[in-house]
Amino acid sequence: MSIKIVKDNIVLTNPEGKSISIPMKSAEECEKASFVVCAPLEWHDEPPFKASVTGTCSVCGKGIWYSTLTTPKTPPKICAYCAVNKLETAAAEITKTE
Ligand SMILES: [Zn+2]
Repeated sequence: MSIKIVKDNIVLTNPEGKSISIPMKSAEECEKASFVVCAPLEWHDEPPFKASVTGTCSVCGKGIWYSTLTTPKTPPKICAYCAVNKLETAAAEITKTE
């Protein structure tokens, strides 16, 4: 996985060379997000960010890492596994209505 900043986008590239581009948002806009994706505890042996703390996923209750400095405070925090499920469900809904 590589992470690059291109113009105003964060570009994530996996080992197979597939990329996704995510537009950067201001901290204010991030507070309006539907949810914040957090790393499950088992992904990092050491705290991954400045001011890292642990919490729980608001969907499944799994332990997660987040930052008291940079993680938006308003949206519910969910683990990466639940985020994938949500995105798969959303993609299936879109496919159904097409
Ligand atoms: Zn979860």
